[in-house]
Amino acid sequence: MKAWDVIVIGAGAAGLMCAAEAGKRGRKVLLLDHGKRIGRKILMSGGGRCNFTNYFVEPAAYLCGNPHFVKSALARYTQWDFIAMVEKHGIAYHEKTLGQLFCDDSAQEIVDMLVKECEDAGVTIRLRAEILDVERLGEGFMVAAAGQEDSCLSLVVASGGLSMPKIGASPFGYKLAEQFGLKVLPTRAGLVPFTLQPEDKETLEPLAGVSLPVVAESEDGTRFAESLLFTHRGVSGPSVLQISSYWQAGEQVRFELLPAGRLAQGVADSPNQELKTWLSRHLPKRLVEALLVREEWVREKITNKPLKQYVPKELAAIERLLSVWPLKPGGTEGYRTAEVTLGGVDTNELSSKTMMANKVPNLYFIGEVVDVTGWLGGYNFQWAWSAGWCAGQVV
Ligand SMILES: Cc1cc2nc3c(=O)[nH]c(=O)nc-3n(C[C@H](O)[C@H](O)[C@H](O)COP(=O)(O)OP(=O)(O)OC[C@H]3O[C@@H](n4cnc5c(N)ncnc54)[C@H](O)[C@@H]3O)c2cc1C
Repeated sequence: MKAWDVIVIGAGAAGLMCAAEAGKRGRKVLLLDHGKRIGRKILMSGGGRCNFTNYFVEPAAYLCGNPHFVKSALARYTQWDFIAMVEKHGIAYHEKTLGQLFCDDSAQEIVDMLVKECEDAGVTIRLRAEILDVERLGEGFMVAAAGQEDSCLSLVVASGGLSMPKIGASPFGYKLAEQFGLKVLPTRAGLVPFTLQPEDKETLEPLAGVSLPVVAESEDGTRFAESLLFTHRGVSGPSVLQISSYWQAGEQVRFELLPAGRLAQGVADSPNQELKTWLSRHLPKRLVEALLVREEWVREKITNKPLKQYVPKELAAIERLLSVWPLKPGGTEGYRTAEVTLGGVDTNELSSKTMMANKVPNLYFIGEVVDVTGWLGGYNFQWAWSAGWCAGQVV
């Protein structure tokens, strides 16, 4: 059995960062992954350009059972620290929108950068290593993987969440946490498109390809002003992905298709214009056609006529339908397409400074396997970098 100071399970974003940091401190580190490539999610992230962090990272951008938990790690290893590393490696990047930073060329550059950091720090990386068993061994651990047994003092679990099983996602980390008596909060898909209820399919499916800026709002009042995209399977786009993390099965989502007050302005500016024509000037035409046949509009008896002919009560109803367009999703597309997994190892079990399990000394959990989920826009990678860095300072 070979002895290491640190074994990190999962050569993804968090694991690579942690292994490199521990190696820099002179620790003898083994980084294991069951896949045949390093950082597969990094490679496919951000459409192949990796949205690696965000200028506006702040604790409020994270969902977590304990909203204070992320504060320490995000403050100790910030977006500016990661940007400095990216610049040190000469990687060109740009801000796309809303503070989101992407590589100019390819996500491969981020993987290469992290691998170089690991190599320079003397980290041993072993791929295709299916973990068969993990046991407590004195104050440390024994890890059996792919016909080999290794021991370590510190064991770091960075095996990620459940999204995209095709590229190696597994429940390994949750099972290991439970094996050591740690609480794991229920998991569900986040940053994921919605599917439609059967009754909405006929009206909304033909809208596939239509996209527009909206404000999406969940039942708990969380709001995101980003775009909405109709697809063949339902609705997607950044506003939907964001709000999906705040949505529970059976709930409604509301979309502000037109800002309140715009219709009143329309009545003043273009009183002779018919509603349908006016709406088509402000919204995609195919969406207008679909809206007018939707049940709520029919129930409100809204028919097409010049704007000046609508009485105030009717105008108020139209305004309401446009500013809180209700949609009750049938469900989500699930882990197959979700970018992240909500829930996971309960943060009450971990030290927010080191990520070590309070009741299992020398066992650490970092990255997405922990009950911390960020918004769309580089927040999830920043959590992985920050948590990985913090554990890397102490393992
Ligand atoms: C399509 C897509 C695009 C995304 N784009 C972005 C983006 O642009 N910006 C952003 O911030 N976030 C993005 N995310 C989210 C981001 O990828 C994750 O939050 C982040 O990768 C989590 O890092 P991690 O190290 O915890 O897990 P991962 O990066 O998933 O790494 C976990 C590693 O553990 C390995 N592993 C799993 N099980 C085992 C096991 N049993 N034995 C051994 N190894 C195991 C896996 O092979 C994997 O290499 C995206 C996600 C997806 C799916």
